[in-house]
Amino acid sequence: MSSYWHPFADSHAVTAGGELSIVRGEGSHVFDADGRRYLDATASLWYCNVGHGRAEIADAVAAQMRQLESYSTFADLTNPPVQVLAERVAAMAPVPDSKVFLTSGGSDSIDTAAKMVRRYWHLRGEPGRTVLIRRERAYHGMHTGGTSLAGIPANAAGHGPLITDVVEVPWDDADALASTIFELGARAAAFFCEPVIGAGGVFAAPPDYLAAARKVCAEAGVLFVADEVITGFGRTGEWFASGRWDLAPDLMTCAKGITSGYLPLGAVIAAPSVWEPFFAEGAGMWRHGYTYSGHAAAAAAALSNLDIMEREELLARAVDLEATLTEALGPLAQHDLVSEVRSGVGVLAAVQFDPSAIEADPALPRRAVPALRKNGIMTRMLASGAIQISPPLVITDDEVDELAAGIGAALDDVG
Ligand code: PLP
Repeated sequence: MSSYWHPFADSHAVTAGGELSIVRGEGSHVFDADGRRYLDATASLWYCNVGHGRAEIADAVAAQMRQLESYSTFADLTNPPVQVLAERVAAMAPVPDSKVFLTSGGSDSIDTAAKMVRRYWHLRGEPGRTVLIRRERAYHGMHTGGTSLAGIPANAAGHGPLITDVVEVPWDDADALASTIFELGARAAAFFCEPVIGAGGVFAAPPDYLAAARKVCAEAGVLFVADEVITGFGRTGEWFASGRWDLAPDLMTCAKGITSGYLPLGAVIAAPSVWEPFFAEGAGMWRHGYTYSGHAAAAAAALSNLDIMEREELLARAVDLEATLTEALGPLAQHDLVSEVRSGVGVLAAVQFDPSAIEADPALPRRAVPALRKNGIMTRMLASGAIQISPPLVITDDEVDELAAGIGAALDDVG
């Protein structure tokens, strides 16, 4: 039995069934310790946008580490890659003149945003605005703030009371959001929103929902936080989904695609309306930040990753892939075990097992993962009982066909 305690795992089952070690990656494929090759249907955990095995990023990180691995950026300290990255990300942000607060990952970004929201209202003289609003099905990471914002009940269960000033709204109803905000009155602080719900099952918002929800928040003076940890950095064909849907969020949380996962890094991007009170004379020190906020080597990885995305025009490729994935995966909806295939918004899709098939055979989703691996597809099941599809943006059309064929064969095997 190994000493490694696996995250998001049934540890008893892993101990009984054994581990699978992934030792190498190349483009859209990864390889296990026995040399078996798998198509990476999920870009690992939604992050490897530029694909695996990019020596160029490794070289950029090594060069930075030889110069300076990192150094604190607390108070007035900084380092060159962090300065360049902040300018570059701010220039991409949908709201001009944004500021970039760096973190170690998505959960850090969410908890930073949650604290930023409350501190913002404190500085604005409305400290009673503490309530955070989440959507059902939401996934906002696993720190205490993010777990409190979990719209997937199982993700919060068994930890006792977390942050209690959290209210849930339906995932698809802007009128319900408006009513909730009205009821909360001067307690409503912010609305957290994934432009496309990811871990909750890949649910694109109904047409007009995002614009309507944004308008509701703007009119009520409640902060709109776009959680772009998955959608940021290209996955919906623009740098940010907020740009695609013209959301002009007050805050955006990011991670994953900013480095394509070559090193851990997250960011919170704040519009001027939010950062100004923090920067005002007399606001004082905001006692928040992480040891690895502004990690120099992680910033170097991000810069190299963004160079690749621009040079290889991966935003345009993502736009093409939206249709390509839909066309290739669509026929899987005819399979007896499948109730629907959700796709068509970004390089994101889900093959949903029919709830009645799961009811008849509750082990079905669990059996699907090994069957998919046997057919050369590396993926996982999402909370809704769906197969996650979020491949690297460098996936080729032939590889998309390989993906659809592998999933089809696995469905036949488990059926
Ligand atoms: N927010 C969203 C929408 C996510 O999908 C995730 C992770 O998948 C997070 C936040 C948390 O990010 P991390 O796992 O990097 O902490």
